[in-house]
Amino acid sequence: MPIYVVGHRNPDTDSICSAIAYAHLKHCLGETNVKAARAGDVDAETAYVLRRFGVDAPELLTDASGLDLVLVDHNEVGQALPHIERANILEVWEHHRIGDLRLPNPILFHCEPVGATATLIAELYSAHGVTPTREMAGIMLASILSDTVLFRSPTTTEKDRAIAARLSALAGVAPDELGGEMLRIKAADSERKSATQIVRDDLKVFELGDMRIGVAQVEVARAGAFLERKGEILREMRALRESSALTQMILMITDVEAKASDLWFVGERADVFEQAFGRLSDDAVHLPGCMSRKKQVVPRLQTAIEGTASA
Ligand code: MN
Ligand code: MN
Repeated sequence: MPIYVVGHRNPDTDSICSAIAYAHLKHCLGETNVKAARAGDVDAETAYVLRRFGVDAPELLTDASGLDLVLVDHNEVGQALPHIERANILEVWEHHRIGDLRLPNPILFHCEPVGATATLIAELYSAHGVTPTREMAGIMLASILSDTVLFRSPTTTEKDRAIAARLSALAGVAPDELGGEMLRIKAADSERKSATQIVRDDLKVFELGDMRIGVAQVEVARAGAFLERKGEILREMRALRESSALTQMILMITDVEAKASDLWFVGERADVFEQAFGRLSDDAVHLPGCMSRKKQVVPRLQTAIEGTASA
């Protein structure tokens, strides 16, 4: 039975490409039973990256039961394959907060606050003295550019920049050129999305205190891209909140050019949301400088929930 390397549900470029690149490294090290996998559909940006570097999309998994898995780019049950508790998890490579995964055995668990999981995988290539192929360098560079929004996100570290520079040389492509094209594709794809897709395609669910909060993010290249569809999108958020038993549903509309986000809100405990982000106006707040869900949105919600709980 193969060992699958797999990222989170609603996979992004980092989840898909870190899985491919890590499985490839394992092959180079003689572990030929390791295969890359994905936990959902490939989005427009990732499809472009794979096509550009001539790499196939990995196998789709829909259930973790009984599988041997290496997890990349996530470590929360809510973001993992269904029945993750029935899988045998062998390793975790991660750059998000420590989640709620409970494991019976000691395993290799590497969690480091860098901009992308691909940065850690690229570092592993160096540690093992393996030079990434042009293809692997290209998709790892693309992952770093995607997660850091071309180094604009506050999650970006010096390590990301240094490793991206090395990958860029190996891939024979300039970060600005590749990243610029990825951003254009992603923004154009976002604006074509239905309300359902806007709310669900990049949804992550967080258990914070006694609240279950959905935070979806969509990247756009112009301010007010969804304003004319706001009523429809808010209705979709309410429907999703209902069907997924969420306390709150938040949509983060990130303007990658202006480096700002609008947060749209539906749900209970608006006081907690306002404590975290300020006064709601028309179910929304505007946050200049806010681009990162994991670094600028989730921690503020957590702090607000703890504050209101002890008050
Ligand atoms: Mn990711
Ligand atoms: Mn990532």
